[in-house]
Amino acid sequence: MTGETDHGRTTAHQGSRIDAYVDRYAARATGMVASEVRALFSVASRPEVVSLAGGMPYVTALPLDVVGELVADLVAQRGPVALQYGSGQGDPHLREQICEVMRLEGIEANADDVVVTVGSQQALDLITRIFIDPGDVVLAEGPSYVGALGTFAAYQASVVHVPMDDEGLIPAALAETIESLSRAGRRVKFLYTIPTFQNPAGVTLNEQRRREVLEICNRARVLVVEDNPYGLLGFDGEPLRALRADDPDGVVYLGSFSKTLAPGFRVGWALAPHAIRDKLVLAMESAVLSHSSFAQLAVGRYLETQPWREQIKSFRELYRERCEAMLSSLEMLMPPGCTWTKPAGGFFVWLTLPPGLDSKALLPRAVAERVAFVPGTGFYADAQGAQYMRLSYCYPQPDRIREGVRRLAGVIEQEMQL
Ligand code: PMP
Repeated sequence: MTGETDHGRTTAHQGSRIDAYVDRYAARATGMVASEVRALFSVASRPEVVSLAGGMPYVTALPLDVVGELVADLVAQRGPVALQYGSGQGDPHLREQICEVMRLEGIEANADDVVVTVGSQQALDLITRIFIDPGDVVLAEGPSYVGALGTFAAYQASVVHVPMDDEGLIPAALAETIESLSRAGRRVKFLYTIPTFQNPAGVTLNEQRRREVLEICNRARVLVVEDNPYGLLGFDGEPLRALRADDPDGVVYLGSFSKTLAPGFRVGWALAPHAIRDKLVLAMESAVLSHSSFAQLAVGRYLETQPWREQIKSFRELYRERCEAMLSSLEMLMPPGCTWTKPAGGFFVWLTLPPGLDSKALLPRAVAERVAFVPGTGFYADAQGAQYMRLSYCYPQPDRIREGVRRLAGVIEQEMQL
């Protein structure tokens, strides 16, 4: 009877895994299960393992002393504001600055239509909360961002994947999916898309397709949720024009400082048509009252006093070098039959295994060889994806990336010989 109290409950410190509340949870809690990415964290963070699994930005490249000074100045000069509750919509000055950041992607927005959120992850949660009843359809690229799939599952959405190729979402497939769902009487609430440097596939929606996707969604009255945390991290040229730039009424745009500054501030945002923005603010207030004033003002001060465009440029160069290290070693070392995407920005490469190989089955062997990746199945709501894996190049140094790819290629080669 170790760990049992007289109510049949087990206290946390006694460490039992039995859940005495299993029959009490709300139905939506069944959708809340740990993602495969999460389960991997403890293994992948062992120092001997080269992790091509996580998507952590390389914050070590930031001038940490400068950030430290800026935070200290903030407390000294604006402590009573920074340490106080703030508005549900977010700091007005930061919302203006966010509009300036979005201008780089062709977006002309009013700061009044911006809601500052706890990372873009919270924006995703709020959007799903205000639009989704259990069983409503969300369209998402196949594969899609694991954190979004988790949110959709938590609100009991039914996720329908739309296929992609190297140029992003396939418009004809999108139109066909919407039509067949509408024939079946299913309600599509929104299309969730990561058009630029997609997570996990690393591909980018081309310009022609951007127009087509907007047209198709407009015609079918399907709202577009454009998630764009990597848009400013292209390796070459100017940032691409956001979908939102061409359709202010049909697109909710989600942005984030997690990859262009640091995820530790947890500052992201949603830019939404006015009526939706009202609902988002109410949802935000019911979730957290307000975002951290401290984090918002720190980000605001960073943008005001630091050369943030230069910092983004140096991140772009750093990730380009790492991406090149990955692509060139894949080219050199992967056995025939493997193919992969060639990202023009962002953090991820999507690798397709030769027919018959299963990335989930491969993972324990890879970890034994001290390399980790994320199996493709984590990026689909319906258990497809066994022949794929996501490889990230954002965090390890180029030499470690090369070593990781070498280990992985060895594991795949061995598996092909079995
Ligand atoms: N969307 C995508 C596509 C992401 O890759 C991430 C982070 N990995 C997020 C949203 C959430 O980012 P954050 O909450 O840190 O802004």
